[in-house]
Amino acid sequence: MQKKVSIVGAGLVGSLLSIYLAKKGFAVDIFERRPDMRKTKLSAGKSINLALSDRGWRGLEGVGIAEEIRKIAIPMYGRSIHHKDGSIAFQPYGKKEQAIYSVSRGGINCKLMDLSEMQPGVKIHFEERCTHVDRKSNTLTFEHNSNNKQTTHTSDLIFGADGAFSSARLSMQLASDRFEYNQHFIEAGYKELHIPPGPGGSFQLEKNALHIWPRGNFMMIALPNFDGSFTCTLFFPFEGQKSFSALNTKEEVKTFFEAEFPDAVPLMPTLVEDYLSNPTASLVTVKCWPWTFDHKIALIGDAAHAIVPFYGQGMNCGFEDCVVLNKLIEKHQDDWALIFREYEELRKPDADAIADLAIANFVEMRDKTADPSFLLQKKIEARFNERHPDKWIPLYSMVTYTPDIRYSTAMKVGKKQEAIMEKIMNLPDIEKRWDSEEVEKDMLSLL
Ligand SMILES: Cc1cc2nc3c(=O)[nH]c(=O)nc-3n(C[C@H](O)[C@H](O)[C@H](O)COP(=O)(O)OP(=O)(O)OC[C@H]3O[C@@H](n4cnc5c(N)ncnc54)[C@H](O)[C@@H]3O)c2cc1C
Repeated sequence: MQKKVSIVGAGLVGSLLSIYLAKKGFAVDIFERRPDMRKTKLSAGKSINLALSDRGWRGLEGVGIAEEIRKIAIPMYGRSIHHKDGSIAFQPYGKKEQAIYSVSRGGINCKLMDLSEMQPGVKIHFEERCTHVDRKSNTLTFEHNSNNKQTTHTSDLIFGADGAFSSARLSMQLASDRFEYNQHFIEAGYKELHIPPGPGGSFQLEKNALHIWPRGNFMMIALPNFDGSFTCTLFFPFEGQKSFSALNTKEEVKTFFEAEFPDAVPLMPTLVEDYLSNPTASLVTVKCWPWTFDHKIALIGDAAHAIVPFYGQGMNCGFEDCVVLNKLIEKHQDDWALIFREYEELRKPDADAIADLAIANFVEMRDKTADPSFLLQKKIEARFNERHPDKWIPLYSMVTYTPDIRYSTAMKVGKKQEAIMEKIMNLPDIEKRWDSEEVEKDMLSLL
């Protein structure tokens, strides 16, 4: 008999998961709290662009939809670093052809929902907010947005794909003994800002780059959109001398931006209005365990492992969950006890690793990308990788472009490489002889 599956949340991961499951012959009902975003206008300041990279592409390729998404993705081949003096330095992300891709979160979500609904057996129910998951009967309870009407739905399997503040996870937490839960908010939050297109839909900054204005303990980034605009995000402490709490008036906002981001201000005609009216949001890491319950219920995507955005991996990691789960369904067929056990055992260490790497990358992006010694280190690593690709892949490339290497392995290898680089960077005159044979030999001997 065809198995009935419920997915809570038609976000990025829930929508992709539904396609994987429908292709395996399951009947899938998705329940989404929000109205259908394809028919409603997004509220201001909540558009967010995401960087899609190789792990995410692999997830999309697994169900044959990568080409559809490529149509709405802009390649970014490196970071454009905007210094305070107005100079701009380009740092490639990897080898020449390697890129991460800018996609609008709303755009990719709408497309994934379209593709999901095209699958036989998938139905998305909108404005149904899941309020409870009953472990014993495998029944979901919903409250409808407009009339508060309560309904229930029972199925063979349930996936909680309802994001960082998952209600499915909360139900499991309350119904389980010894459920591990850890939530950590970092000291910075974020706010969306906007650079409109130039004349005739032109790009006012380099189109194929991720722009960063690193400023010590805060930064602004900008990702390109197809219409020539850029979606900017200010990552900024909540409290302190330079912080959200310190910028409250038009004058304060203007003075601050002119001092910190002088080259961006002329490109942002609605800066002050955007800053004062767009919401400020917080950034959280969530770690929990277990992820599966009674061989019938599983958490996936941000519901299982929310991470901060500084490695650009949250969605990519959630898409990788789908790839791993799909492989396990193929391996164990209908044995859900085995599928779920291996799924959580495989994914948990990887999710923990990328969560920690993402926190560490905040410091790298906001601070080190402007530091000459850091840039030299990256140059040495890139050169060594060119000469010995079998011996050294820089950490960023392992995470972003090498989906065959697990996040947990990348973190382990990355730590070892960092220790080696510390020694190399301390060699006398490294600035002058970084490209020499002796330095190469030293690196080989330290491996
Ligand atoms: C500022 C920022 C920048 C980011 N940048 C990147 C990036 O560059 N690259 C990257 O890979 N990732 C990035 N991420 C992370 C990425 O957005 C998330 O990892 C991804 O959206 C997770 O997908 P998801 O489907 O698990 O959760 P979500 O996308 O949050 O979807 C969850 C869905 O569940 C619905 N829902 C919630 N509660 C209920 C309920 N009770 N009942 C029914 N439905 C419910 C929600 O409405 C939503 O549609 C970024 C995140 C932020 C905040």
